[in-house]
Amino acid sequence: MPAPAPIPSATQLSGWGRFPRLACRVIAPADADAAVASAAVEPSLIAFGNGRAYGDAALNPAATMAMRGCAGVEAFDPETGLLVVRAGTLLADVIGDFLPRGWFPPVTPGTRFVTLGGMVAADVHGKNHHRAGTFGAHVAWLDLALADGRVLRCSATENPEVFAATCGGMGLTGIILRVAFRMMKVETRLIRQETLRAPGLDAVMDLFQASEDWTYSVAWIDCLSGGASLGRSVLTRGEHARAAEAPAPLAPPRARGWRMGFDLPGFALNRWSVRAFNALYYRAGRPGIALVDLQPFFYPLDAILEWNRIYGRSGLFQYQCVLPLDASRAGLGALLRCIAGRGAGSFLSVLKRFGAVPAACPGMLSFPMEGYTLALDFRATAANLRLAQELDAIVADHGGRLYLAKDARMAPAMMRAYPGLPRFRAARAQLDPAGKFASAQSRRLGL
Ligand SMILES: Cc1cc2nc3c(=O)[nH]c(=O)nc-3n(C[C@H](O)[C@H](O)[C@H](O)COP(=O)(O)OP(=O)(O)OC[C@H]3O[C@@H](n4cnc5c(N)ncnc54)[C@H](O)[C@@H]3O)c2cc1C
Repeated sequence: MPAPAPIPSATQLSGWGRFPRLACRVIAPADADAAVASAAVEPSLIAFGNGRAYGDAALNPAATMAMRGCAGVEAFDPETGLLVVRAGTLLADVIGDFLPRGWFPPVTPGTRFVTLGGMVAADVHGKNHHRAGTFGAHVAWLDLALADGRVLRCSATENPEVFAATCGGMGLTGIILRVAFRMMKVETRLIRQETLRAPGLDAVMDLFQASEDWTYSVAWIDCLSGGASLGRSVLTRGEHARAAEAPAPLAPPRARGWRMGFDLPGFALNRWSVRAFNALYYRAGRPGIALVDLQPFFYPLDAILEWNRIYGRSGLFQYQCVLPLDASRAGLGALLRCIAGRGAGSFLSVLKRFGAVPAACPGMLSFPMEGYTLALDFRATAANLRLAQELDAIVADHGGRLYLAKDARMAPAMMRAYPGLPRFRAARAQLDPAGKFASAQSRRLGL
């Protein structure tokens, strides 16, 4: 077994929200063997993928294992689309390599700057959840470094309890070393996108209902408008364009991008600037059909690198909840009225319909349930943190729950809405009785 990688001194680390920031000792293994060796000797650690979880899920002051060094493609079968990659590989690199060959991931989050290990650990969902489920449903197997130095291969049939605890398990079962998953065939890099405007909450929910046959659907929602316009939204739905309808099938990506090179002052983002942005965005969302590149369709925010700095030095937190279908209309209305009443709305508010969770989705702590999910960004201020507690009460009253990958602040009681938690705890107690794999989040929530 090779010696663990050298250990640098503590570094200030945070998730994407830059809240909280913690001094963490970072270990950066160069390969899977070094990761296994470190996992065996460290008394307490957590894996860090690419830091796109918003809060403290990937932070452990004692030892945070930066996984980006463990990257690269190990195998690809063009007959089946089965791709084996090391867990520190960025989704952006997978897309860069495989889209020109006609392959795309079956599920993608709203940024491509995530690692495959992070995608499994959060069991991420995309705009196609109602059709494809979570990413874990497409994972054929994964290799996991355990607390005792063993490496375990697990899948839906091999060590299935470990597999189900690891998909969505936020790094708390071990270090994911490699992931095998099935890619999806596409004919072009374009999306046939239809844009529709909904003047209020009922209208957008009806539009989601009417979009069930579309592969992708998502809505931007104006969370500052009230009264008759409460919940007014711009819904986009899309399909991968066929070669026959696209002028430039699989053309290479155009190099575009802008970096937010500084922190905006805190006062720049206030109820007036957000209200003005929302009104503009609603009007700009012209109904119609267009062929668009999949980059802006799936990853509109990736065009501005470090966009999180727009929220200023204090950082931001994201609030993402899901409400069960039968309580969604009442619950979303209550959440939006509460937010609009405070004038604290974010300008990146996203509404999405989740489908029934297919049996193939394994995760004990996976976030989705059939219903509606609402994601909002807030500047990390004391007032907004108090507002989040009010939103928690509404979510809990309506039988909903919060997404661990976005969380930086919830109280342990909110975990009661995860029925798989007792099973997860039992699996973890068997795998890692000393609780070696731990994060600031898992300690805060008593996972
Ligand atoms: C702009 C933006 C849009 C997003 N959109 C979506 C979306 O649409 N849907 C969605 O589901 N999520 C979304 N996310 C959240 C993101 O997909 C998840 O947080 C994902 O886990 C981040 O991956 P990462 O590699 O950056 O992992 P990190 O943020 O570094 O870590 C996240 C978790 O994964 C664990 N982890 C990472 N690597 C490993 C490993 N090798 N072994 C074991 N555990 C590991 C960490 O311990 C931590 O618990 C979005 C995030 C951003 C910033």
